[in-house]
Amino acid sequence: MSQNIVILPGDGIGPEIVAQAVKVLEHLRDERGLDITMQEALVGGAAIDATGGPLPGETLNLAKAADAVLLGAVGGYQWESLDASIRPEKGLLGLRAGLELFANLRPALLFEELAQASTLRPEVVAGLDILIVRELTGGIYFGQPRGVRTLENGEREGYNTLVYRESEVERIARVAFRAAQKRNGRLCSVDKANVLESTELWREVVNRISSDYPDVEVSHMYVDNAAMQLVRDPKQFDVLVTTNMFGDILSDLASMLSGSIGMLPSASLDKNNKGMYEPIHGSAPDIAGQDKANPLATILSVAMMLRYSLQQPALADVVETAVQKVLADGLRTADICAAGQTPVSTTQMGDAVLAAL
Ligand code: NAD
Repeated sequence: MSQNIVILPGDGIGPEIVAQAVKVLEHLRDERGLDITMQEALVGGAAIDATGGPLPGETLNLAKAADAVLLGAVGGYQWESLDASIRPEKGLLGLRAGLELFANLRPALLFEELAQASTLRPEVVAGLDILIVRELTGGIYFGQPRGVRTLENGEREGYNTLVYRESEVERIARVAFRAAQKRNGRLCSVDKANVLESTELWREVVNRISSDYPDVEVSHMYVDNAAMQLVRDPKQFDVLVTTNMFGDILSDLASMLSGSIGMLPSASLDKNNKGMYEPIHGSAPDIAGQDKANPLATILSVAMMLRYSLQQPALADVVETAVQKVLADGLRTADICAAGQTPVSTTQMGDAVLAAL
């Protein structure tokens, strides 16, 4: 049965980069037997302009019924003065909540050809390929009680609660174990079990379910050490799994190892592996409409979709190999161009990937 993909171009450079990714999907459908249908819908500022709100009910319903969602980016200067409750970014949060996307997968990968783009030495990062799995809907960002209260002596006190149920740890850990099975079979769980009881339980649950994945080698690391190791020797890792807050921080750190925001895809998954796939960058209003944006993060998001939601790992490899080929051939959009190189446009980069396919 054909699988349905909802396409949400969004705002700014969103429509330009998503158009290149759609060309890749059409090629896989028409030439390589990928059985998919695609439907486009509105989200973010584009939806506000057309309907008054950032996430029309029709878009949410289509996304709920779909097998996967591909999103460009949302936001832009013209919507910044709106009330926070109806800004474009609310559309994104509404999708994450409405689809119950509790697992955020962020690879940090650095193609050999772009090693010079990193702030770290090329030999430390060239060929880097790690995956951070972050719990997205629990932990200290959502735990109750929370707030700011006034003590008897009149001093104010801010407080939040770090809370994880066993079932929450188990479901995110299972996503990470399965991801490790699809990659190099190594999983490092990051916690602060020496200080925080909630992450002591986290570690216990990860160990308990590890027996279901005998082909995955499990290790544990305290978060402070993990931050240090990510900068010292990031290639020692394959998959990392961690809490919402630790993952927030570590995934941003890891994304900078690879130098360019225009290269990194992401996935957010629900319990059935249905996912929303998007580049990690925003709508880049400063270069929107100029055919300058790098479409590779969005095209690599399609590769993640093929691997995690559509169960087509061979086609995911095909797409990643095509991206590697265009980089090896020397094609660069402006954001990854070294001095003396001539940049190609968004469309030219998309066409080059298509030709490499
Ligand atoms: P941004 O990621 O849009 O841009 C940061 C810088 O990176 C800009 O100079 C931009 O030109 C550049 N850049 C980003 N993507 C690029 C690409 N593919 N190719 C080349 N250069 C690229 O972040 P920002 O400027 O802080 O935010 C702009 C808007 O995007 C805001 O409205 C923000 O709320 C929104 N935003 C949306 C998302 C999302 O949709 N997931 C994420 C972050 C920010």
